[in-house]
Amino acid sequence: MSGLYIHIPFCHSKCAYCDFFSTPRKETIEGYIDSILTEYELRCSEISSKFTTIYIGGGTPSLLPEKLLIKLVNGLCKYVEFESLEEFTIEANPEDVTEEWCKLILSLGITRVSMGIQSFDDSQLKFIGRRHTASDAIRAIAVMQRAGITNISGDLIYGLPNQTLESWKDSLERLLSMGLSHFSAYLLSYEPATRLYVMREQGRVKEASEELAQQMYGVLIDMARRYNYEHYEISNFSKPGCKAVHNSNYWRDMPYLGLGVSAHSFDGMNRRCNPNNIKAYIKTIESGEKYCEEEIETEDERHNDYIIVSLRTIDGISLSYYKSHWGELRYNQLIETAQHYINNGQMIIKNNQLSIAEEHMLISDRIMVDFIV
Ligand code: SF4
Repeated sequence: MSGLYIHIPFCHSKCAYCDFFSTPRKETIEGYIDSILTEYELRCSEISSKFTTIYIGGGTPSLLPEKLLIKLVNGLCKYVEFESLEEFTIEANPEDVTEEWCKLILSLGITRVSMGIQSFDDSQLKFIGRRHTASDAIRAIAVMQRAGITNISGDLIYGLPNQTLESWKDSLERLLSMGLSHFSAYLLSYEPATRLYVMREQGRVKEASEELAQQMYGVLIDMARRYNYEHYEISNFSKPGCKAVHNSNYWRDMPYLGLGVSAHSFDGMNRRCNPNNIKAYIKTIESGEKYCEEEIETEDERHNDYIIVSLRTIDGISLSYYKSHWGELRYNQLIETAQHYINNGQMIIKNNQLSIAEEHMLISDRIMVDFIV
């Protein structure tokens, strides 16, 4: 069981909060798709198990011209057994979703769409540089549902500049009432090298207070429960049976191969990362060379990755796995560290799993620090 990730690093424009690698310059797009397929041939032997998920992310994969999306998916068809796939996701932005696009992705075997909505308040969308409006998002969801796409995930952001608790509730209510199978809700993070970060440094925007962020998170978990969503990772919620398989496999340390610039890979032992220079990527791949850099991890770093990823999920750390993998001494230290959080109700042990209590997940970073070696 393993995942295939394909990074499409092109966007119509750059959103103010985004630090993913993407560019609005699309002159290399055709050569880039050819290189993805060549990179697959060069690197597929790194992963020994069958691919059970494919995720085309970005950037904005929904901006790919029809002929390039067909070329990409048909190219992968030669190598990946599509019958073995449990999930095939593409990311989309609302302004790209049309009836024709839905028909196209369904005909290619794509079964799930993850759409960036971020807010249902037009002034907030404009402020953060999104190109679509709330009604574009509502229309896009209706178009997908009419076309028969049943596995749809929507992304929202909370803690946006000038976003009140009421406005957050309104965005959530609008999304949840549409009955999507899945949604993700992220607390806005001010990443260096983004426009929002610069604006905050210049005093032109104010970060949401910790108190407001906590209230927004409280509303989020209450409303998700009311609409029958399962909260299974700090930012992810699903209807029963609709957890994101590809992302869940990352959190379970399953192998994955990432193709394209800035994509990451993990073969079960070693992590690799592709640098983020599109022209250099195409040139290197076309000359028959791999473009990835090996990230040598120490035992401690592997341990810390496991802690960070596990404690973001509602299931948390499997204590039996932890003991068998990291040894008795570390296990005893883990339990000793956890005791303080268990006593104050911030962590729980249930079914031999140690996890952060749902209402405290927003401060998971602070708790995790104590478990890092
Ligand atoms: S569309 Fe997505 S990837 Fe592109 S700039 Fe905006 S947030 Fe970043």
